[in-house]
Amino acid sequence: MTEAKPLEDVTYSVIGARLTFDMSRPGRTACALPSCDVPEAELPPPELLRQDLNLPELGQVDLVRYFLALSRLNYGVDSGFYPLGSCTMKYNPKVHEELARLPGFAHIHPLQPAQTVQGALALMYDLQRCLTEITGLDAVSLAPAAGAQGELTGMLVVKAYLADRGEEGRTRVLVPDSAHGTNPATATMAGFEVVTVASNAQGNTDLDALASVLDDGVAALMLTLPNTLGLFEPSIGRIAEMLHRQGALLYGDGANLNALLGRARFGDMGFDVVHLNMHKTFSTPHGGGGPGSGPVAVKGYLAPYLPAPVVEKGGDGFVLATPERSIGRVGSFHGHFGVLLRAYAYIRTLGTAGLGQVSENAVINANYVLACLRQAYYLPYDRRCMHEVVFSGSRQRAKGVRTWDIAKRLIDYGFHPPTVYFPLIVDEALMIEPTETESKEALDAFCDALLAIAREAEEEPQVVKEAPHTTPVGRLDEATAARRPVLRWRAPESEGRETGA
Ligand SMILES: *Cc1c(COP(=O)(O)O)cnc(C)c1O
Repeated sequence: MTEAKPLEDVTYSVIGARLTFDMSRPGRTACALPSCDVPEAELPPPELLRQDLNLPELGQVDLVRYFLALSRLNYGVDSGFYPLGSCTMKYNPKVHEELARLPGFAHIHPLQPAQTVQGALALMYDLQRCLTEITGLDAVSLAPAAGAQGELTGMLVVKAYLADRGEEGRTRVLVPDSAHGTNPATATMAGFEVVTVASNAQGNTDLDALASVLDDGVAALMLTLPNTLGLFEPSIGRIAEMLHRQGALLYGDGANLNALLGRARFGDMGFDVVHLNMHKTFSTPHGGGGPGSGPVAVKGYLAPYLPAPVVEKGGDGFVLATPERSIGRVGSFHGHFGVLLRAYAYIRTLGTAGLGQVSENAVINANYVLACLRQAYYLPYDRRCMHEVVFSGSRQRAKGVRTWDIAKRLIDYGFHPPTVYFPLIVDEALMIEPTETESKEALDAFCDALLAIAREAEEEPQVVKEAPHTTPVGRLDEATAARRPVLRWRAPESEGRETGA
């Protein structure tokens, strides 16, 4: 017997720091097997039997409570506000999950003959068509499996096109310092040399800096729009003109299209190639990094280079085709069909007017947060934002409280922390994307929490610096957790065997 104490957190009390192994009692079981109705066979001699399996033995009720309690320690967009900037978890309509499970979609296989999956191909064909219309470009490949892979695909398309024109001398790709980190990474993977272009004091591309590095050795400029400061690029027309005059291409990172949807089109702004993130802008839950889909849209002159397959009309229906000068395949099959299906449902249920409403709400919500918090947090680029707003914790840092601490303290107030320390060009960055689907009440509650934390940073900074106070574990050594994770349970009594992690 141990002394009973009132509970601080009911969920955690079920679990404690325990694993199912710690709860194990010899002979307990979670299932009842029927009695044996076949002759019993002799077991092999004991020395051949595995001795160290040591599985936990638990009753069903304990097991169910354990896993339910574990699930309640998780935080997701269905449990509360999730203001992560840049890599947001947005709206995932539940009806899309039902659609994705319809047997006609869920039970097909990518190796089936095309004539037996005409419905799926028709959906992909129509999605390609929708995305050309949404981007203002001419052709689309749905094959890439994520945003970053879409970028790599786009840059390989650019490379193949330049090679065909005998312009292999274009070895450099320009990337503004306000771009998403995947842009320089993918340009490098595609074999280009990356040259960084500085931003000006307004957070826009510095046109003089651009002009100074723009010559006939440049293949393309990769521009994130809106950029990672959440800002639109007002000189985009001029930038496109500068590049094209030099024979270079304009690449657009359209991962966060919820800022522009139905209002501005990449093709109309002069972009030659763009990738979109279906799993950000067009629904699909993507916890833990997947699943994703990063279609690439291009101007007509780049269409022959798109990866295989693209869906075309052929025969009596639709066929999977390989474009004439294709860069090849970027995945085993035809892209992440389940994600494409949800994106298609999203586009068709919202319609043209609804898509325009998405970007309007996304931009209004972010600007509302900007207005509510600007009195308490420093706003390094003081202008209207798009879908997200980037503050700096520099005022709080003067009191010894870091952005890091503010993010941890938000957990005590019941909110998922925003993205921190990104983009790199903002000191102590605090990057908030409220998304288009949050109510005013939800935004107010979140802003109230951040305002309260700003007051705490002034009056009792220690509380913020030691947060979180309400979670099962406080601050972890994240480097060790990532580099040397302890993933294996070992029996405490195991002697002579290797122990510890
Ligand atoms: C998320 C994001 C990416 C990368 O997309 P993944 O699907 O995570 O690979 C690229 N650019 C921007 C602007 C993004 O927000």
